[in-house]
Amino acid sequence: MTTNISQHYHDMRKENIPPGPANLTPAFIKKASGAIMTDVEDREYIDFAGGIGVNNVGHSHPKVVAAIKEQAEKFIHTCFHVGMYDSYVELAAKLNELAPGDFPKQTMMANSGAEAVENAVKIARYATKRPAVISFENGFHGRTLLTMSLTSKVKPYKFGFGPFAPEVYRMPYPYCYRCPFGLKYPDCNTSCGDYLEDFFITNVAAESTAAVIAEPIQGEGGFVTPPPEYFKKLSKVCKKYGIALIIDEVQAGAGRTGKFFAIEHWGIEPDMITLAKSLAGGMPLSSVTGRKELMEVPHIGGLGGTYSGNPVSCSAALAVLDILYKDKMLERSRKLGETLQKRFAELQEKHELIGEVRGKGAMLAMELVKDRETKVPATEETKKLTSLCFEKGLVILSCGNFGNVVRTLMPVVITDEQLDRGLAILDESLTELRK
Ligand code: PLP
Repeated sequence: MTTNISQHYHDMRKENIPPGPANLTPAFIKKASGAIMTDVEDREYIDFAGGIGVNNVGHSHPKVVAAIKEQAEKFIHTCFHVGMYDSYVELAAKLNELAPGDFPKQTMMANSGAEAVENAVKIARYATKRPAVISFENGFHGRTLLTMSLTSKVKPYKFGFGPFAPEVYRMPYPYCYRCPFGLKYPDCNTSCGDYLEDFFITNVAAESTAAVIAEPIQGEGGFVTPPPEYFKKLSKVCKKYGIALIIDEVQAGAGRTGKFFAIEHWGIEPDMITLAKSLAGGMPLSSVTGRKELMEVPHIGGLGGTYSGNPVSCSAALAVLDILYKDKMLERSRKLGETLQKRFAELQEKHELIGEVRGKGAMLAMELVKDRETKVPATEETKKLTSLCFEKGLVILSCGNFGNVVRTLMPVVITDEQLDRGLAILDESLTELRK
């Protein structure tokens, strides 16, 4: 809906900003709090998108706002390379402690998810002295040259932007609903977990491979969730050949799945973990946490950046950790996940369109198909569904290679009443789609 005020901004946006940076809804937001966004027309939206997985602790959480204000009043920027500050080292120490693995770890900060991934790859290459990186089909790691090269989906992320970075290889991801090997879980014995051994024969040598990078649950790829045995198998092969296993937690991490790191659900100890998005409650910040023996190898001055680990962002991240642990927000995330699982299963019973419900905790999705037997992706229907929801006051995003997956990334602080209202809109819109 556009009236005079929002039309004015729409016209300005069209004239002054290129179309490349997409707008997933037509809303111009003037304020947001908890799980509610309000637009310039005073229309309220229940937010199931959380700024694409950034607002796990809610929009403008009072503790995050207070931390930002307090730090901004002291100083906003010195550059960590010029004048160090407590929040960077405290945050690094906390992330080292939280990351799985009983071995010495170190953490460096960057600004965005893509930048964290770039740094993790730089470190892995430097430490192993090998060039190749293996990523996954359906994976998403960002929009810079290297991360776009690691990313799978061609349109809109890669089309026209080549040539791509060399020495990037992509292998199939354990997408059980559409198994790339044509097998069925659990009869398959999760053989995809051993596939890396074959990949070394036909694609790139193990001794040329610096890193394997995987999302614990693919975010943009459709919340594809590997079976319980998968990462243990993958990690074993990586270990055998001295390859760094990088787990990209940019979307799945920082409490989204009911655990701080999503990979904790699989019980492995990655060599490096990247975080961003919800880490700093909306402030730009990312991190790479990894084995000290890898992290400490690159020479002084080889890593970092002007804004990397900005003090206001680091203070916001410390507040986020405080909220997750002291205010028991992780527990709330787990409970929200249980409610969502139950409610999505009910929706699946009712609506033929929902082919599969998957995810972990509050990182849940439904894949929409035209027919449950043929699994033809319901791409147009998904587009219609998200816009019907928007018209009724619910912001919800799609994802997946075919754009046929609807995902939940709502703030964990969402009230029961807001959640009920949001789910009722989703139900109503799914019903309307049948007409
Ligand atoms: N990695 C994953 C798993 C992501 O989901 C994203 C963004 O959606 C990125 C990396 C890139 O993060 P950013 O957009 O902050 O560069």
